[in-house]
Amino acid sequence: MERIGIFGGTFDPPHSGHIQAARQAIATLELDRLLLVPAGTAPNKQERDITPASHRLRMLEAAAQALPRAGVWDWELRQEGVSYTYLTVRQLREEFPGAELFLILGSDRFLLLPQWRNADEILSSVTVAVLRRGAQDTQEAAERLAVQLQSRGARVSQVPNAAVPISSTDVKRMLAFGCADPLLPEGVGDYIRAHGLYGVGRDCRNLPMDQLEEVVVSLLNPNRVAHVLGCRDTAVEMARRWGADETDAARAGILHDITKALDGPLQLTLCQEYGTILDTFFTQNPKTLHALTGSLVAERIFGENPRVVSAIRSHTTGKANMTALEKIIYVADYMEPNRDFPGVEQLRALAFSDLDGALRLGLEMTMALLRRSGSQISPESQDALAWLNRQ
Ligand code: FE
Ligand code: FE
Repeated sequence: MERIGIFGGTFDPPHSGHIQAARQAIATLELDRLLLVPAGTAPNKQERDITPASHRLRMLEAAAQALPRAGVWDWELRQEGVSYTYLTVRQLREEFPGAELFLILGSDRFLLLPQWRNADEILSSVTVAVLRRGAQDTQEAAERLAVQLQSRGARVSQVPNAAVPISSTDVKRMLAFGCADPLLPEGVGDYIRAHGLYGVGRDCRNLPMDQLEEVVVSLLNPNRVAHVLGCRDTAVEMARRWGADETDAARAGILHDITKALDGPLQLTLCQEYGTILDTFFTQNPKTLHALTGSLVAERIFGENPRVVSAIRSHTTGKANMTALEKIIYVADYMEPNRDFPGVEQLRALAFSDLDGALRLGLEMTMALLRRSGSQISPESQDALAWLNRQ
């Protein structure tokens, strides 16, 4: 009997995480064939703006070249209205009557399967292949559900997944930063560039503030937006108080956490793509990298001036010989209105009465926190404090 895997998704865009997962499924399930099924309008995604189907299809066809025995099956895209998995499965049963079908689902989507329309029909027509993905508790819940469904006669098998977790949202961020190639199957990056998808090719240098805000907000984690806008507004107020350039303060404030949403491995990928050589502190503490990568993106992608770039660069650690703008961004980041921790009120008062005092307090608090948690202290923070104490 022919063994056919069904791997559905929005594939917006298809990325190396998909390819690795597909490879794993082909090997584990001993598939004769893998059908990549680009989703039409998924029942849960009608609201979101999705790249037009024709582009997603072409990108997926390019990506499929990297996989043996894989092809794209575009039936869902050709249907009107909302796509339901039971209809897709029904169609596949008709087209491949003798085959054993394996519906490949990540742990997260598998957990929702019992709520899908006509779930029982799906479960009686296919073997569900659960691709281990996500947090430990998600995977455990998926295992419990698998046992439950099996006791009711469903066929469920597990596919180990060594793939580095990567999301389409991350890929879109890396595209915006001009360094997504390592995450894209061959041909997909070229296609995206040729068609200017995901805003690639847009000139983001020296954008007016309202447009800059729009682009930045689209790249941040949604839970980070209030902090970033708060930091910008606070930085502007402080610039007014301390005679620094208010435009520089606004731009550094809004861009300071631009790469914060990238995890450690993606931070390192960005550095590699930009040809940046890292010192040992950074390679051992990739979480602190967002200040450096943020400054690189501010310079290369947003065309910011050296004053803004260097204020972003020093916003987590400080450094020796800080300019007023650098001090302002460091302090504003620490005490903008969304921050809440013991001592924040003292820092807020100092920010407008004694800028160096505020900087010193911030540095001391950070270093104390790092010491308590047994983390390494950046040499730049030590330099900053030594410099302040010489003043
Ligand atoms: Fe930050
Ligand atoms: Fe911040």
